[in-house]
Amino acid sequence: MPVYTYKCPEGHTRDMIHSIHDDPNPKCNKCENTMKRIPKTVTVTFKGSGFAANDK
Ligand SMILES: [Zn+2]
Repeated sequence: MPVYTYKCPEGHTRDMIHSIHDDPNPKCNKCENTMKRIPKTVTVTFKGSGFAANDK
């Protein structure tokens, strides 16, 4: 199930699971401002790439 992160103008964030009752503009449970969905940040990790440039 996809989880979306919403953010309000005050900076509060909230993770919500996308469901049938999809509210496009949910309200913050802290300041009651309308929250907007923020795009998922893609985490790029370059672990164990074996970047060996020192070939002598
Ligand atoms: Zn808020």
